[in-house]
Amino acid sequence: MQSSSFIIVGSGMAGLVAAWRLLERGHKVLVLEQADRAGGYFGGFTNAAGDRFDLAVSHLLGGLPGDNLSTLISSLGLDDQVSFEAVDIADVMTIKGRRVELPTGFDRLEQSLGEQFPDSGPDIHIFFQFMRAFLGEGNGDSREKGRFMMRNYRREFEAFCAETIVDPVLRSALAMRIQCDDSSLMIMAGFITECYAKGMVYPKGGVHKLIDAIVERIRQVGGTVEFGAKVTDFIILDARVDSVVLADGSVRTADVILYNGDAPTLSRTLEARGHPGIDDECRRRGHSSLSIFLTLLDADLSRFAGVARFYLTETDDVFETYRVLETGVLPENPVIKLHFMSRIDDGLSVDGRDLIRVEVDMYHDSAVHDEDFYADYARQIETIIAHDLVPEIDTHVVYRRVVTPIDYERWFGHTGGSATGWAHDVNNYMIHRMNQRTSIENLFITGQWGEHGSGLPQLIASADKSVTLAEQWLRKRAAA
Ligand SMILES: Cc1cc2nc3c(=O)[nH]c(=O)nc-3n(C[C@H](O)[C@H](O)[C@H](O)COP(=O)(O)OP(=O)(O)OC[C@H]3O[C@@H](n4cnc5c(N)ncnc54)[C@H](O)[C@@H]3O)c2cc1C
Repeated sequence: MQSSSFIIVGSGMAGLVAAWRLLERGHKVLVLEQADRAGGYFGGFTNAAGDRFDLAVSHLLGGLPGDNLSTLISSLGLDDQVSFEAVDIADVMTIKGRRVELPTGFDRLEQSLGEQFPDSGPDIHIFFQFMRAFLGEGNGDSREKGRFMMRNYRREFEAFCAETIVDPVLRSALAMRIQCDDSSLMIMAGFITECYAKGMVYPKGGVHKLIDAIVERIRQVGGTVEFGAKVTDFIILDARVDSVVLADGSVRTADVILYNGDAPTLSRTLEARGHPGIDDECRRRGHSSLSIFLTLLDADLSRFAGVARFYLTETDDVFETYRVLETGVLPENPVIKLHFMSRIDDGLSVDGRDLIRVEVDMYHDSAVHDEDFYADYARQIETIIAHDLVPEIDTHVVYRRVVTPIDYERWFGHTGGSATGWAHDVNNYMIHRMNQRTSIENLFITGQWGEHGSGLPQLIASADKSVTLAEQWLRKRAAA
């Protein structure tokens, strides 16, 4: 196809993947990033002592030969530069003081749960029978089936789980991975397939290393990535974007725009220009994450498995966390996720130091909650962790940084959260996918806003779809 010029607004993972795909196809690409570094939520930071933290991501789905992540890495020519550590035990959960391990691999998971919950043998058997029959063994089309289930069989699946798994701790352990509320038990199916059956990986050197390598490749093949370049408006002529306007008043022109930023903001910008918005049918509630980054000096954390992610809660009703979307009130018993980064990759910190990232899903209401509120909440979370899992936190912390939803909003323009790619309808929690097309012919959405779920496979899929839509439009324009 004839070469065209593209502007990508935002250098999140999806924006970068789209940039690479377009360069591969011979197009001219300019990535405009408002921040001073690339990656969005896939970025990281280094503290004064040289400890390297990932901002959000702890594990990536995929990385197996032939899947879209490994294919992407190969197409970038990064096989020698980027390597992945496979995750063995995916999750360790402490629910009401009871420890539950969830290893990867369907067979291992089923067997392990059978051993940990001997009284629930028949329940586990029925559950896995169902999962195998419906989702397959984690093979290629299981993701499609999972999505189909999400959209169509939500309630049936929820009822099935409620009826099938009698032990509340087992049910909570299996449900802990879901990112929504109790009516979303169906997501468990997708997560079980993706996380436990197929497995997860972590990029050696930290997620930001992956991002840096992609940016370098983009530049090597002639793409441009500009930092400190915030797009604030569009000049639209005859239902087509002619140019984007930057915060400094300068203007950049291209044939096609791929938008990787906050879709509701884009929607409002279009409406202000008299064009239809994007997400009319659903209402978004702020679902975000509070993160605490800690460096512990001379603490013995060898009891924590190398690459597992730890979940901690004092309730066997994990859905309480997700009801915050409805009530706006923080849960009494939050689900706390701990990621021991230097257990995965000791290259991230200097000797004798352990890095912990604590993540708590939460409701975010910028009208009600301020920095002090979050700081206080972070302290409460640390107290729970110190009491129940890592007493060393009390005495061994040498670095502490709390990142609040307000920070996320400041950095990326939206509050993020693992479920950001979905628009929550507050009445029934049905989840809508946004159309990646907009009312403007040559303006397309790329990234988490366009796909169910927000893991890397979905981001790659979303980037690919936006590229396909853009090329279809270019062909239509050429034929006209
Ligand atoms: C706490 C947390 C934990 C997570 N854990 C995982 C995990 O373990 N594994 C996983 O796969 N996923 C995880 N996710 C989800 C994943 O991080 C996101 O889905 C993904 O990073 C989103 O990528 P994106 O490209 O769509 O957008 P973003 O990362 O949001 O990037 C958008 C970019 O656009 C820029 N931008 C926005 N507006 C403008 C503008 N007007 N002009 C210029 N630039 C602009 C922003 O600065 C940003 O760099 C997690 C998310 C969170 C919040």
